[in-house]
Amino acid sequence: IRIKGDYRYEIGELASTLNYMAQEIVRSNQIKDDFISSISHELRTPLTSIKGWSETLISGGYDPEETKLGMSIISKESDRLIGLVEEILDFSKLHQNEMKLSIGAVGAKELLQEIILNLWAKAEKKSIRLVLEAEEGIYVRGDANRLKQVFLNLTDNAVKFSPEGSSILLSARRADETEAEMVVQDSGIGISPDHLNRVKDRFFQVDSLNGGTGLGLAISQQLVELHGGTMEIESELGKGTRVTVYLQLTEPIPAPETAGPESLPG
Ligand code: ADP
Repeated sequence: IRIKGDYRYEIGELASTLNYMAQEIVRSNQIKDDFISSISHELRTPLTSIKGWSETLISGGYDPEETKLGMSIISKESDRLIGLVEEILDFSKLHQNEMKLSIGAVGAKELLQEIILNLWAKAEKKSIRLVLEAEEGIYVRGDANRLKQVFLNLTDNAVKFSPEGSSILLSARRADETEAEMVVQDSGIGISPDHLNRVKDRFFQVDSLNGGTGLGLAISQQLVELHGGTMEIESELGKGTRVTVYLQLTEPIPAPETAGPESLPG
């Protein structure tokens, strides 16, 4: 083959691009391998406990109190497994662009109230106060279930990483004409800048030390972005964490008018 002109520069560029791509593939495969091994570990822990307790109970000879304890551990660990599998499925759906949203108008205050109701008991165990500061009549454009998932995850983290007796603020206000600003703020242990960078990694961070998948924040962020919104995390070690979510404002969907007999034709 005769090559006209001097293509050495282009070929050099191409070679370095291919080289870069190869390095990226190796890097992402490494992340995947780490992820799979960490997830397997996360799945194995509850499974081991379920297996252990079921064998113990099958062998019999336990009084009703011990039997009940065993059963409740099996049930709790099964819930944990279901939660983990759901997170993995959500994460993979998001990455394959297969997450479908069922968009409507979601009341911001009502949403945060629901989150507080859901986490009330858990917060109460640590004497943590969940405080709501929400403007009336704010509606955001979104999938109610998915937005609930986002704010449950953020608030659950806030409860997990906050000290006894502290307060967590959940707020909603109009940021401007088009956007609502919703915040979950705690005064907990905070996240170090280095860890925060890893947490913010578009892919995922896996922190097996914490006994979680590290998928929660990644899923939340991607769900918010899928809604056309943004999510920002600010955190200071020992001071606390503030997660701000911006979502598009929308009009409430009017309740369907109840059709009286007079409105029926004929
Ligand atoms: P996990 O299921 O592991 O908690 P997340 O993605 O929800 O996954 O959180 C990732 C990590 O970020 C946590 O393990 C924790 O180290 C840190 N983190 C998240 N939220 C907070 C918070 N409010 N305060 C302190 N650390 C947090």
